[in-house]
Amino acid sequence: MLMGPQNLPENIRRVRERIERATAECARSVDSVTLLAVSKSQPAASVRAAARAGLTEFGESYVQEALGKIEALRDLPLIWHFVGSIQTNKTRDIAENFAWAHSIDRLRIAARLSAQRPFHAPPLNICLQVNVGAEASKGGVPPSALPALAAAVGALPRLVLRGLMCIPPAEADLGMQRRRFDEVAALLASLNAVGAHMDTLSMGMSADLEAAIFAGATIVRIGTALFGART
Ligand SMILES: *Cc1c(COP(=O)(O)O)cnc(C)c1O
Repeated sequence: MLMGPQNLPENIRRVRERIERATAECARSVDSVTLLAVSKSQPAASVRAAARAGLTEFGESYVQEALGKIEALRDLPLIWHFVGSIQTNKTRDIAENFAWAHSIDRLRIAARLSAQRPFHAPPLNICLQVNVGAEASKGGVPPSALPALAAAVGALPRLVLRGLMCIPPAEADLGMQRRRFDEVAALLASLNAVGAHMDTLSMGMSADLEAAIFAGATIVRIGTALFGART
């Protein structure tokens, strides 16, 4: 089966169908889930083709690569999300060029983004990345440290704390996938119960978007199922 960008319209149709089916199964509105196309490693031409096919929100993981595409696609009304891990020396580029940052797990990074967000731009939307699998290899704040980080980030002036993000360990079994996503949804609910106002769960990728939607995902981050395998 051909999976390159030449299949984009068909791939987008399939992913939208999966989102429709999953939301219907748990009696959620299809509009409650945003499809974020993760375009890392894809050329600007593929992003343009995806935009022509109706997608507007794109996720990138590498700042340098993303800046080239953002510049090349300025003529399109696209919304850019940074989903990769953030190094200190890249915060200014992110603050100046993105609408969202999904992978915040340290106050120091959030404070820099707030300080460097241009005053003419709306506040930067932030998700805190939670490490639910307790995986040493992955970023994310441990659940025990989340309340303090959420309070501190929530107080920064040029950011809006929108929600939580996770990249759980790969699991083939839907029940196992669901367990991790439920944990993150419960963390969001418990923070909202003590005064946070978060409306976003950024979770679910090509292999597990259904489980994430059942658990309440509001943004699914999809790369492979749209653009094909990354080389
Ligand atoms: C690459 C990436 C995705 C997309 O993953 P696929 O399995 O290709 O859909 C989603 N989120 C993050 C943070 C990523 O780095």
